[in-house]
Amino acid sequence: MGVLRPVLVTLLCLCALPLAAQKRIAITLDDLPFHPASTSLRDQRALTRKLLAALRRHRVPAIGFVNEDKLLVQGEVDGRIGLLEAWLDAGMELGNHNYGHLGFQATPLPAYEDALIRGEAVTRWLLAKRGKTPRYYRHTFTQTGPTKEAKEAFEAFLKARGYAVAPFTVEHDDFIFAAVYEDAVRRGHLKEAAKIREAYVAHLDPALETFEGMAAELFAREVPQILLIHASRLNADALDAMLAKLEGRGYAFVSLEDALKDPACQSPDGYIGPRGPSWLLRWSKGLDRPTTKKGQPDPPGWITARYESLSR
Ligand SMILES: [Zn+2]
Repeated sequence: MGVLRPVLVTLLCLCALPLAAQKRIAITLDDLPFHPASTSLRDQRALTRKLLAALRRHRVPAIGFVNEDKLLVQGEVDGRIGLLEAWLDAGMELGNHNYGHLGFQATPLPAYEDALIRGEAVTRWLLAKRGKTPRYYRHTFTQTGPTKEAKEAFEAFLKARGYAVAPFTVEHDDFIFAAVYEDAVRRGHLKEAAKIREAYVAHLDPALETFEGMAAELFAREVPQILLIHASRLNADALDAMLAKLEGRGYAFVSLEDALKDPACQSPDGYIGPRGPSWLLRWSKGLDRPTTKKGQPDPPGWITARYESLSR
């Protein structure tokens, strides 16, 4: 006992210490089965395998949000549904991202509701085969409604159909990098593509610093972050490095369901308007706790310049 006693005392003291709050992050991917939908089915299969391999390697319980209109390509419907099956077989969850990727800002409420219903037929069937139902809706362009009335009416509609809103807290302009990357790959400029991919992975750091700072200002504690990215070639090629970076920053991967159990993520969303800001900014308004940080840093100038020249 003479030797054991100090050991026991030390162990008891350690147990009495409050556990340092673990940093947590949920990974969410939009525009399934794949963006852009014009990507060949062969490439979509290979890139989906790559996305899922990265998620499984890092034990990420991710969720993907589906645009079912992307399934309806003549001769490929079954193949594209197979991509969604692969997500479920890999243990990932699927949610609804509406049919046609219609934005709420420019779509009347009845048509917007129709897009949700049309957008769940296949997903609901695939989930039912596994004893599950769709549980989360990700607003397209993360536009939650043009007016308070439309927003509240749609939220009531979601609830009645068994859906909860899927918020996000972190994004780092992946659609801008993805468009520039896709262009470089299609032109066969692989060195350039690698440079874009490196810049993209690096851009996650300043974005996380901004949103971590915002969360600390709002809640004065560690709250779960929710990352929004897309099922794209860029993320298929970069996700492994991004997940390693997140682990390096001390994050553990949690499901969207677990992230939303944190009371901070149930804060009121006080934003109404045409943009699609992080829920941290919406909660800042809803809780009337102003933050000194207004949004995430822009991508490097050479990336935005290329993106703009592609969009012209
Ligand atoms: Zn989308």
